[in-house]
Amino acid sequence: MNNFFSDNLLQWYNLHRRDLPWRNTADPYKIWLSEVMLQQTRVDTVIPYYHRFLKIFPTIKELAKADQQKVLKCWEGLGYYSRGRFLHQSAKSVVENYDGEIPIDYDQFIALKGVGPYTAAAVLSIAFGKKYAVVDGNVIRVVTRFLGIENDIRSRQVLNAVQDFVDEAIPSDHPGDFNQSVMELGAIVCKPAAPDCDKCPLSTQCVAYNSAKTDIIPYKSKAKKIPHLDIGVGLILNQENKLLIALRPNDGMLGGLWEFPGGKNENSESIKETVKRELKEELGVDVKVYEKFNMIKHAYSHFKISLHAYWCTIDYGEPQPKSSQELRWVTLQEIDDYPFPKANRTLIDELQSLNNADLIRFLR
Ligand code: SF4
Repeated sequence: MNNFFSDNLLQWYNLHRRDLPWRNTADPYKIWLSEVMLQQTRVDTVIPYYHRFLKIFPTIKELAKADQQKVLKCWEGLGYYSRGRFLHQSAKSVVENYDGEIPIDYDQFIALKGVGPYTAAAVLSIAFGKKYAVVDGNVIRVVTRFLGIENDIRSRQVLNAVQDFVDEAIPSDHPGDFNQSVMELGAIVCKPAAPDCDKCPLSTQCVAYNSAKTDIIPYKSKAKKIPHLDIGVGLILNQENKLLIALRPNDGMLGGLWEFPGGKNENSESIKETVKRELKEELGVDVKVYEKFNMIKHAYSHFKISLHAYWCTIDYGEPQPKSSQELRWVTLQEIDDYPFPKANRTLIDELQSLNNADLIRFLR
């Protein structure tokens, strides 16, 4: 069974794999970068980021030397910014501790910041031919269908069964191609809805296909409802029509990115009151809150937000970075030099479509 699985997949992969930029290199740094960027992100989205990133940071040594803000600017819009921060920190560590050579040893590689079992198995198998099998969403779908596993794929028991199966199936020669072949089949043939079973090299022995259960396998129990937060932020303008932006702390979500200051709405207050309270807490200033400029909706993996942006001016006080690393006043041209999270970036695009007359009107 395992030989059937790996032999057929490898043959199929040699004939049908997509020509993706990271498949035309043996450079472990480029392969590592692609694996990091591809986490939770579609191939089409990653390709332009991958090329741009390598143009600016062509080697791990160049990345290690770079300023974090430049790295995050390059990652802007790709989401999950800790991936970029951790890759940058790991690059520094590889240069400092391994003379710029990515470690081949599993324990050394997985000890680097942001490297988990998936990334370690993917990079070590693809770049160095090490026999470590990957498990991701595509692999889980292919294997549970092939074996006819009907239990909940959120359960540890199913994940262990999938890992055990691919650990057995992975061949000693071409382990990287094997890993990529399972993921590739999941991406382009064994798709979540309406898999193309008649084009699949596994169909003769696939349990889900042969028992007409491809629409119920894999089974995934319902996720908990994702919470929703209302966030109020201030677009604080000064006399020179510059906006105040704040640099988030390096640790935690969206660390090292800039944002418009503000925070979460609390139960009994209006969003305008949220903006006033948050700016007092975060900057130590009293502000006058004017009309709402815009509201942007955005979904993160574990919660959704509505970002309400209000025009403000400072009534009293000098802004202090009480809960940020730094504050800056910037024009709408200068703001493009700073990395922002997606929802803030959408706001900036809207702001940049305004002219000075519009800005003044908002303050009347
Ligand atoms: S036969 Fe269909 S369900 Fe089974 S592995 Fe192939 S594409 Fe997936």
